[in-house]
Amino acid sequence: MTMNSEGLPLKQAIEAGVDAAFGEVQALYRHLHQYPELPFQEHETAARLAAALEALGFEVTRGVGGTGVVALLRNGEGPTVLLRGDMDALPIEEQTGLDYASRVTAMGVDGKPVPVMHACGHDLHSSCAVGAGAVLAGLQARWRGTLMVVCQPAEEIFGGARAMLDDGLYTRFARPDVVLGQHNMPALAGTVGHIAGSAMAAATTLGVTVHGAGGHGSMPAQTVDPVVIAAHVVTRLQSIVAREVPPEETVVVTVGKLHAGTQGNIIPHSAELEINVRSFDDALHRQVLAAIERIIRAECEAGRSPRPPEFRVLSETVAMHNDPVSTARVREAHRQCFGEARLFAMPRLNGSEDFPYFGKAEAGGFGGDDIPCVYWFIGMTPAERWQATPGESVAEKMRHLEMPHSPYYFPGHAETLRTGMAALAAGALAYLAT
Ligand code: ZN
Repeated sequence: MTMNSEGLPLKQAIEAGVDAAFGEVQALYRHLHQYPELPFQEHETAARLAAALEALGFEVTRGVGGTGVVALLRNGEGPTVLLRGDMDALPIEEQTGLDYASRVTAMGVDGKPVPVMHACGHDLHSSCAVGAGAVLAGLQARWRGTLMVVCQPAEEIFGGARAMLDDGLYTRFARPDVVLGQHNMPALAGTVGHIAGSAMAAATTLGVTVHGAGGHGSMPAQTVDPVVIAAHVVTRLQSIVAREVPPEETVVVTVGKLHAGTQGNIIPHSAELEINVRSFDDALHRQVLAAIERIIRAECEAGRSPRPPEFRVLSETVAMHNDPVSTARVREAHRQCFGEARLFAMPRLNGSEDFPYFGKAEAGGFGGDDIPCVYWFIGMTPAERWQATPGESVAEKMRHLEMPHSPYYFPGHAETLRTGMAALAAGALAYLAT
């Protein structure tokens, strides 16, 4: 495939590389789709991806941060570019009707079997990362530096990025100059969306136990009622957004779980809450979490709770910030590759990702300066469906389309696979091309 690409303009060389690799990448994608694995259980997935990258000539290390795969292609002096694809699937029963739909079940977190499905397209992301690796391996005469393909476990539980960093991703292998990643979304297949600056939310789910002293429902004076304390907590927490967050900021505080007791005439010993917080600024996020803790401690004291409440972080990720200069550079590479008509302005999403850990030195637990990150979006909706969907803008049309995590969600059309491969390759070449 290095064959005739030498004399071609880069855009055509990338297209030729995508054409050459497409058949194998599509087969890899379909296999991964049919055999999805839950977070940190991606053993077969990782083995397939590692083997594919090894066959392309990458130096491959398995088992980084659990099931993560790190693949390096060293091609002389130059910058290091990290391309990240995630690998994990979700406990959802697939309803797409595809002939390679998943029928897999696996052991869920509570020890019971659950159906498993790639309902967020992480199979697409990791296949595209291998596909970009194939394109770039074939174009080595056109670039210098180090390409680092990272297949990350456990994005859905926000654990995999940090696990790989904690396992020495930047010390054992290479410290990248830029980190690139992508996610599929309901937008026209073949298009690519960019957003500079604040792009996705920080998210924390807290588990809280509020203690009381249980007893007979007819004798409340001899008890401490944790239900009443928990009820005050729920209403008082809403005052954080209303009274402590500046009105120009966006913060969500949701108590999604509140559980106490067994029947009406028994005052229980404790109450359990789960609280989800979203925001777009890490400092503000910490301030809101501190306010939640302060209010819950104070309500427990006000309610005569016999011991302090307990707090557990059930899942957490930091806010995504796309470095504006790097985003402009990648967008320009995509414009040259795809043309302006295939690019769109991505709206900010209230969803979350653990991708930003790769760029934030403090949150990621690696020293030194932050590393610029660019995370873009690739459309997955076929043209006919897109045209039939009401609305003008991407944001309007999105409201009428299945979103990731639906049992009907299927992003793996050929157009999207091809675009995802080319977008990663072109993004890397924005730094590596000679
Ligand atoms: Zn996802």
